[in-house]
Amino acid sequence: MRHFPAFLDLRGRHVLLLGAGEALDAKAALLREAGATLRPEAAFAPDLLEGIAIAVAAGAPEADLVALHAACTARGIPVNVVDRPELCSFITPAIIRRDDVTVAVSTGGAAPVLARLIRQRIEAVLPPMLGRVAALGARFQAQVRARLPSLPARRAFLERALSGTPAKLAESGRQAEAEAAFATMLDAAEERPTGFVQLVGAGPGAADLLTLRALRALGEADVIVHDRLVPEAVLELARRDARRIFVGKRRAEHCVPQEGINALLVELAREGLRVVRLKGGDPFIFGRGGEEAQALLDAGIAHEIIPGVTAALGCAAQAGIPLTHRDCAQMLTFVTGHTRDGVLDLDFSALARRGQTLAVYMGLTTLAALHQGLIWEGYDETTPAILIESGGTPAQRELRGTLAEIVEHAPGWAGGGPVLLLMGEVVGMGAPPLPAFAASAVAGTPRPA
Ligand code: SAH
Repeated sequence: MRHFPAFLDLRGRHVLLLGAGEALDAKAALLREAGATLRPEAAFAPDLLEGIAIAVAAGAPEADLVALHAACTARGIPVNVVDRPELCSFITPAIIRRDDVTVAVSTGGAAPVLARLIRQRIEAVLPPMLGRVAALGARFQAQVRARLPSLPARRAFLERALSGTPAKLAESGRQAEAEAAFATMLDAAEERPTGFVQLVGAGPGAADLLTLRALRALGEADVIVHDRLVPEAVLELARRDARRIFVGKRRAEHCVPQEGINALLVELAREGLRVVRLKGGDPFIFGRGGEEAQALLDAGIAHEIIPGVTAALGCAAQAGIPLTHRDCAQMLTFVTGHTRDGVLDLDFSALARRGQTLAVYMGLTTLAALHQGLIWEGYDETTPAILIESGGTPAQRELRGTLAEIVEHAPGWAGGGPVLLLMGEVVGMGAPPLPAFAASAVAGTPRPA
């Protein structure tokens, strides 16, 4: 982030406006609305800076602009010369306004046009009368504080009120009814709300494969409990002040044992917090989400499951492999290569059946055992197969070949990211859709440096 975002309180403060023209007039109008006292000047002189909170300039002679910038910098007065980033100590964002609600967009000064495009999109989704909702919050601010002294309780209440019935009434201009609904809700509000847990699928690694429901949950959570497969880009989407707890898992070295995670989720919810348990891919596919859901059920904690794009789907899509096909794959099986007590306990005869695609999770270290088990049951080891590492992310790597070739080359190829194995006739059909991910037959894409 290039600039620190902030909103200035300029009520009753003096702002120097140097120069003339449309751009300066537009700034003047906004500054006036924000309550600033304007001091328009045509030419620069150092004594103009006396008592000034900020300075804005445009359309003045070059020498004046440069002098203004130098003098402001020397005296620590924020200065903005329109369209001259090198003469600015602050920049002004593109803004979207709904009365007192202001959304500011910045691209760090790099692409103001992009900022305007973003603004158009935000304009389209914000209800025109959103300002009325803000006014509702302001009107009841003191009462809400008095009734709900604790911050989490207050926040939980306000989120319900400002997204529920009172907000909807305010947005449609029915202010009196909105206030009545707000007051009723406030009367019934509890100081200690019971928390709840959402088991959320973070998808296979790319933030834009998140579901909208997951995005909403992230935006509302008080605390995020996440593990190693969850990419930073997804965590970035969480509410800024949400607490993050890493309970990272890597094969055979659990940072926090599963029982500990279960207990943590229960404990956090009992504190009245909204908890998001964020898991890579889908929480119910090889994610032990079932165990966590059961623990919450046993403890009587309200919870919900928000599905995610599981690794097999993310990887196959990016590699251009259809997981089912009318001609050769009427079945799709999700398999775990994880052992229990060192044994790969799988029904190999079922896995060796023709007409299916196998998607093997956590299968890298047990690949040889899987291969053995399959060929004993008559599986054809020339079946097309692919290993996909860090699938669904820009770092996706692939190793294509027959099953036998893959088994031989996998140990030297793996680069440390999560790896999924896909096997079946459909793998032969998959032409990489993006040249960036094209890989030669067995050699595969190179290991990252
Ligand atoms: N719940 C997750 C799976 C967790 S098990 C899901 O639905 O995707 C962890 C295994 O998933 C890894 O060992 C790997 O086999 C697979 N995996 C997860 N993310 C992956 C990715 N981005 N690329 C390839 N494989 C991945």
